[in-house]
Amino acid sequence: MIGVKKRISFIDGKFIDHQKAVVHIEDRGFQFGDGVYEVILFNNGKIIDLKWHLDRLYRSLREVKISFFASEAEIIRIILQLFEKNNLKTGYVYLQVTRGQANRILDFPLDATPTFIASVCPLEYLPEQILQKVISDNKEFNLKFASNYNVVTHPDLRWSRCDVKSVNLLASTMIKQKSSEMGAIDAILIRDNFITEATFSNVFIVDSNGHLITKDADNFILQGITRNRIINLAKVNNIKVEERKFSYQELMVAKEIFLTGTVTLIRPVLMVDKKLIGDGKVGLIAKKIAQYYLDFLNAHF
Ligand code: PLP
Repeated sequence: MIGVKKRISFIDGKFIDHQKAVVHIEDRGFQFGDGVYEVILFNNGKIIDLKWHLDRLYRSLREVKISFFASEAEIIRIILQLFEKNNLKTGYVYLQVTRGQANRILDFPLDATPTFIASVCPLEYLPEQILQKVISDNKEFNLKFASNYNVVTHPDLRWSRCDVKSVNLLASTMIKQKSSEMGAIDAILIRDNFITEATFSNVFIVDSNGHLITKDADNFILQGITRNRIINLAKVNNIKVEERKFSYQELMVAKEIFLTGTVTLIRPVLMVDKKLIGDGKVGLIAKKIAQYYLDFLNAHF
């Protein structure tokens, strides 16, 4: 792993060698996908939008009725210690809580203790490098060199509680794999002719009025923390934002499209289903948003 000599992870209340961090074969996360997770960016020693991530973690836990009693302060302490022990200043932390270990029956066990794990992951590129690339990219789209900006659409095969950040990601992994095999970076998902989101990020389009449009938050999308932050930054900077359903047809005639997420940050989309979007270059609004997000990261404390 880049930048990490000996990776340390957290499980069962202890920090241990990553290779030895294992769960029981009857953990319900392993057998049923009965658990929830969060991925949080740690940038230059600062945890980005921590409060919103923790609020969403506790919400996911409530929605699936996992009784997990660790306080915010305990979780924050674990995250900070993990970065320190792994000697990382920038990277991601992955948090997961499952319902715990129990005999394999579907009903919730009465006496299981939730399994809480946390691990960190270094980055290939720093967030500022990724965002700077978006800001300065003026090249014409070329499939050979820019497959990063190429996506396909796919029916949204997931369940109808996508608002819960569940570890049950089989539909997403299958669709993502299919999009990779088609030479695309991701798939934008369609339910009843309307766009929901992508397999691990939210979708924004820019219409002919320069308005930013993204799906309103309901049970069919994950309410992304990056999505919420970008809506906030756009509004503060006088860009009009509409949170509403939008169709496949609107997507295909959009001036700009970009994806957002903790890992994705801001990813312009220049080709969908082999059709060029806008003028085939990274758009002005995507660049502005990338700049606002970069300024936000640099100012974050
Ligand atoms: N939508 C889905 C399905 C995701 O899995 C993710 C992130 O993992 C997102 C959206 C973006 O959410 P966030 O900005 O909180 O990372």
